Amino acid sequence: MSIQDTTVDYARKLDEQDPLQAFRDRFHLPEQADGSSYIYLCGNSLGLQPKDTAAALTQELEDWKNLGVEGHFHAKNPWMPYHEFLSEAMARVVGAKPEEVVVMNTLSVNLHLMMVSFFRPEGKRNKILIEFDAFPSDRYAVESQLKYHGLDPQECLLELKARPGEELIREEDIEQLLRERGEEIALILLGNTNYYTGQYFDMPTITRLGHAKGCTVGFDCAHGAGNVPLELHASGCDFAVWCNYKYLNSGPGSLGGVFVNERHADNPDLPRFAGWWGHDKATRFGMRDPFKPIPGAEGWQLSNPPILSLAAIWASLKIFDEAGMDRLRKKAIKLTAYLESLVQQLGEDTVKIITPSDPERRGSQLSIQVRNADRSLFDRLTAKGVIADWREPDVIRVAPVPLYNSFEDAWRFYRALEEVLTSK
Ligand SMILES: *Cc1c(COP(=O)(O)O)cnc(C)c1O
Repeated sequence: MSIQDTTVDYARKLDEQDPLQAFRDRFHLPEQADGSSYIYLCGNSLGLQPKDTAAALTQELEDWKNLGVEGHFHAKNPWMPYHEFLSEAMARVVGAKPEEVVVMNTLSVNLHLMMVSFFRPEGKRNKILIEFDAFPSDRYAVESQLKYHGLDPQECLLELKARPGEELIREEDIEQLLRERGEEIALILLGNTNYYTGQYFDMPTITRLGHAKGCTVGFDCAHGAGNVPLELHASGCDFAVWCNYKYLNSGPGSLGGVFVNERHADNPDLPRFAGWWGHDKATRFGMRDPFKPIPGAEGWQLSNPPILSLAAIWASLKIFDEAGMDRLRKKAIKLTAYLESLVQQLGEDTVKIITPSDPERRGSQLSIQVRNADRSLFDRLTAKGVIADWREPDVIRVAPVPLYNSFEDAWRFYRALEEVLTSK
């Protein structure tokens, strides 16, 4: 999309035409001292609070207050099967079958649990492939798993790097690496949407190439869930993990999500760390039976889950069901392209967007490199009411989220950035 019209009127016109416009009002937008809302473009870090969340939490607090332990069976939404209430809506968001997903633990914990089952080094096939600029927690998790298996990360951690002078990883380079070293790789673990560049990888192709070489393939979808159409089941990948507090608006530190492909649902050969909540529901309270995992993703659960967090996630998932991932994606593409075209008005010698320009290869994020910038530029942007994210040395990450960001937000950000740049 090329936009010549940089007026606020045009932004407002786009908002009027936006079929999802009403959803903005379903969220609490943080306010500045003068009562106006911040330009919140940080939904890739912490999504905003839906107005429905408080009532959902209060329901559980009331049931606990009035019923005590009986709430496990007699709460309005009984706590015993509570996590099951989320499975269908969660499956719709990530494109999976309900049996393939479960909400449990938090992201880094789930990554470890999945690697217990799906990173099984054997002989020369003992390496893990990740992105060079993987999120630090993922790198720590992977390195520690290698060490846990007595392997040296120096030797067994393979990293996908962009070519010198480039920011994005070329898919042909992934292909070549797999052709050359695929037989050494036990596990391919990529962020499906890279947190830094916003690059959205072609999951079906990577999965197909990896499987052809005998590798297990998993994705960290922290920046993909609720953002891009993941279609996890169709992608064929073996497992995926994500968090629910970024694009999925479920509150700080909320529980994460796990996908286990149905081909592994009942596989007795997979090692796993077990706990009572993953055990056969019929005999869970028998307390004496040997561990018999529930088929599917639920069988990886360890503990009875924190209901308050599940309640917040459920409240948010209902909004996703109302809006629908298809409509959200449509708006996301338009809104991101609009913001991109505005930022490009600032000129190539001032800004460079490192996120892919192809809408199929990105979600609702732009990583904007500002030439000769330092942190003070970002601080001045913050002083103008922009909440975004700064990555050293010179990148501003902004996430125009289709559920609650408007075209006018995008315009206000552009105007603020322009003012900060020209007042230097
Ligand atoms: C946000 C994020 C995390 C955070 O992990 P937690 O365990 O939820 O604290 C990890 N990895 C990636 C890729 C992320 O984007």
